[in-house]
Amino acid sequence: ARLRSTAVESALSSVADGLGLPSKYGHYINGQFVEPANGQYFDNISPIDGQPFIQAARGTKADVDAAVLAANTAYRTTWSKVSVTERSNMLLKIADLLEENLERLATIECVDNGKALRETKAADIPLSIDHFRYFAGVIRAEEGAASEIDANTLSLSIQEPLGVVGQIIPWNFPILMAAWKLAPALAAGNCVVLKPAEQTPTSIMAVMELLSTVLPPGVVNVVSGFGGEAGEALATNKGIAKLGFTGSTATGKNILHAAAESLIPTTLELGGKSPSLFFSSVLDKDDDFLDKAVEGAVLFALNQGEVCTCQSRLLVQEDIYERFMEKVVARTEAIKTGDPLDEATMMGAQVSSAQHEKIVNYINLGTSEGAKVLTGGAANDVVNGGYYIKPTILSGTNDMKIFQEEIFGPVTSVTTFRDEEEAVAIANDTVYGLGAGVWTRDAHQAYTVPRQIQAGRVWVNCYHAYPAHAPFGGYKQSGSGRETHKMMLNHYRQTKNMLVSYDKSKLGFF
Ligand code: NAD
Repeated sequence: ARLRSTAVESALSSVADGLGLPSKYGHYINGQFVEPANGQYFDNISPIDGQPFIQAARGTKADVDAAVLAANTAYRTTWSKVSVTERSNMLLKIADLLEENLERLATIECVDNGKALRETKAADIPLSIDHFRYFAGVIRAEEGAASEIDANTLSLSIQEPLGVVGQIIPWNFPILMAAWKLAPALAAGNCVVLKPAEQTPTSIMAVMELLSTVLPPGVVNVVSGFGGEAGEALATNKGIAKLGFTGSTATGKNILHAAAESLIPTTLELGGKSPSLFFSSVLDKDDDFLDKAVEGAVLFALNQGEVCTCQSRLLVQEDIYERFMEKVVARTEAIKTGDPLDEATMMGAQVSSAQHEKIVNYINLGTSEGAKVLTGGAANDVVNGGYYIKPTILSGTNDMKIFQEEIFGPVTSVTTFRDEEEAVAIANDTVYGLGAGVWTRDAHQAYTVPRQIQAGRVWVNCYHAYPAHAPFGGYKQSGSGRETHKMMLNHYRQTKNMLVSYDKSKLGFF
């Protein structure tokens, strides 16, 4: 049941009406949308025009406690009794529903986050669908682990769910980050309490409307609200058995402290300062591969640069720097920016005014540090009240703050290297270790350079691909544990070992 109240007025409210959105969403607890315990809501601002288009419930400890209780009850009474086959079928059903509603969800995601509709339609929602299908398949393909200890004793290892898990996600891919968390947690047999980011509380609720028709009440619960309120209440709740977190490295450290208090496991997907290395050989021929490498460099602006793995550092071999960067700048300037609801738009608005301001400040900091603006700059790109930035390339050196700190916008910083050794040294000169790119026509280099880079994912001659069946995660301060891939299941389970004796003879100790 949706909650309705007076309509929120904004330029986008007609879009919201057209999408069948209510004027506000409560929390999704025990299979229903419910009023927040303290009755408070907050405006969800669309980055497209800087105006509120819907309201979201402002969660507090009382809401989180209710959600954790609902999840624990569901786990005990229903979900732990559901067979693997049934779980798998429900995940497939969720995938089908997401697919049937792709257009609507993609549009809501665009209004909620500001990202381009053509991207939510081609990437966010299809990747989310695939995630549910992948984990539905994986749990049915698993084989047990039995081994013989001696002629009469068998060791059986069984993977059991953890129970109720808490999940906290960021705003840059709201539905996809939820899918990355929910699909493996449910596949592994857990119940969930999830908190979306305060900047994007809406699209996940549209997804919950669909899930409510498939899952028993209480299996998934969503409490919206702010990090210091609902987020902290979830992280410190004693009823959860694990914390899955995606967000900034600073908040990740808070999560780890909270988890230490309850001694529960965590999976942390944190920030990055990912380098892409372009070796001389990319310019050997003027062909499709060169074009691919140029486009690869320009992918720094994908999703407005709000991707944890965005190559925010471009490292270019010095002998090709001028010619290569001329092509990269030209390609960057061809990115069509503007209204994300227009399907011709390639890059939309930054998620919030705070994020917009942070990016502008970093561009100004870069120039004050002595970096040169190759294209773009701090001026607002589209003036209609929304939070737009031009794709920006700054050139400088790796010791500058713009090369060391995460900007999380369509801004990349470029520098040169002499040889492989220097390229690897610069690539690794960061506290982060999430993604990296290596571009070369040299097969030897394509293997040996990635092996020397301290990052959990190194793309070789490609970038920004996220298949469900390849593990993803960080080295160093970019996190711990992995997401995607079947290895993820064991991040949401614990091993029960049964040692079974078929020997009738006495033990003989006492
Ligand atoms: P953030 O850490 O501020 O917020 C992320 C989530 O944590 C939000 O839901 C927020 O409400 C919640 N939160 C904030 N403070 C909290 C607290 N004290 N206790 C509990 N929850 C709290 O991050 P952000 O700035 O919103 O998101 C961007 C960051 O996320 C970037 O650093 C980016 O690199 C990272 N990110 C990483 C990945 C990855 O897979 N590694 C993916 C996407 C984003």
